[in-house]
Amino acid sequence: MSSRIVPFSAPNPRGSTRVFDVALVGDGLVGMACAVAAGQVGLRVGVMAAPHPAAAVEGEPWDRRVYAISPASRRFLERIRIWSQMDQSRIAPVREMRVYGDAEQRAGVHFSAFQAGADALAWIVEHRELARVLGAALGYQQNVERIEADAEEFRADSQGVTITSARGAVRAALLVAADGARSKIRDAAGLASTIRSYEQTAVVANFATPSGPKGIARQWFVREGVVALLPLPDDMLSLVWSAPTRLAASLLDLDPAALAQRVQAVVGSDVRELRAVGGSSGFPLNLLSTVRQTAMRLALVGDAAHVVHPLAGQGLNLGLQDAEVLVDILAARESFRDCGDPVLLRRYERARSEAVWAMRQVTHGLQGLFSSSDQTMVRLRATGMKLVDQIPVLKRALIRQAMG
Ligand SMILES: Cc1cc2nc3c(=O)[nH]c(=O)nc-3n(C[C@H](O)[C@H](O)[C@H](O)COP(=O)(O)OP(=O)(O)OC[C@H]3O[C@@H](n4cnc5c(N)ncnc54)[C@H](O)[C@@H]3O)c2cc1C
Repeated sequence: MSSRIVPFSAPNPRGSTRVFDVALVGDGLVGMACAVAAGQVGLRVGVMAAPHPAAAVEGEPWDRRVYAISPASRRFLERIRIWSQMDQSRIAPVREMRVYGDAEQRAGVHFSAFQAGADALAWIVEHRELARVLGAALGYQQNVERIEADAEEFRADSQGVTITSARGAVRAALLVAADGARSKIRDAAGLASTIRSYEQTAVVANFATPSGPKGIARQWFVREGVVALLPLPDDMLSLVWSAPTRLAASLLDLDPAALAQRVQAVVGSDVRELRAVGGSSGFPLNLLSTVRQTAMRLALVGDAAHVVHPLAGQGLNLGLQDAEVLVDILAARESFRDCGDPVLLRRYERARSEAVWAMRQVTHGLQGLFSSSDQTMVRLRATGMKLVDQIPVLKRALIRQAMG
């Protein structure tokens, strides 16, 4: 993709140019949420989205990809009238979170919504359910047009930005890149990014368990990686096992029953009688950072701007907050500014940089701390966990931070 700057009047070789306030590339969850929000504040939005295969595996009762949605993200989804349209029987509140450290140190931290004075710490939602409702909302939005095409090239100038595709060109005051971690727009705009592999793959799968209180998310930091079991409705649990690449490959080779046994061996008696429901999928894990989240007439949102380790379940939450903040800034702009005005882009970048930086530090730091087998580190993190567990003020501060 090229981002050569050419005059606005450059001819479009493939026919007519459609004009919008905002052109948005990418129809992942962040892109769709951003487009819905922008449409609702009255902006004309053109969404360019490449046709892609369904993310969910057909025929399985529960999506393998689930997200812990923070209270801040839920408020945003409520505000844009998405939350109430979701099938509430498929959403599980997390009322308690139990984090277990190294077995030999017997350390652990216990967080509860009750301590935080909240109904829930987070809600577990399926990718396909959130995508279904966002897709439907986009379809209803009169001032949002969907263009089924791969964005191929964009050209920014002082007046606006033109994005070309096989289905014609789009002209807008602002281009929002929501095209994911491998964002071609980010790279074409020359926004430097660094990507670092964690040499880990997240193995995801769903299990049924016959017993135990509901609404508890559990996470074990063990030698084999970070194992999380998140509550789903009924008696279901969703596994996210961030495992070293070779171990992950062998886990993904196991049949569902053998994987259930393997997980059971790690989590012990905390969760009983795991039974696999469906197969497993793997997601290689990376850390992606960009120095800048904006360029001339361009704003990055979601994974295009930042990818963090899933151990804190915050990647999508960060992206949804990007979308909310950006749309709020566009909606509140002075009447003499168009949506791509550099002042607005600076406001957006300033508003997001601290939150993104903090989340990157926390997730990356925890990942590093817990992946070390050095005995001093093992003792240090056990002491740290005990301390956190015994100091209510510190615990409440951590809960508040995670809840957004
Ligand atoms: C195992 C795992 C567990 C996770 N758990 C959580 C969690 O509990 N909570 C949480 O908050 N986050 C979680 N995350 C993070 C979350 O999955 C991501 O942050 C989020 O899905 C990113 O969404 P996005 O819309 O920015 O990007 P993407 O989902 O990558 O979407 C990008 C879209 O852009 C389209 N596209 C790309 N290029 C073009 C182009 N040139 N033209 C047109 N379209 C294009 C693609 O087809 C795609 O649809 C998890 C991640 C993993 C791997």
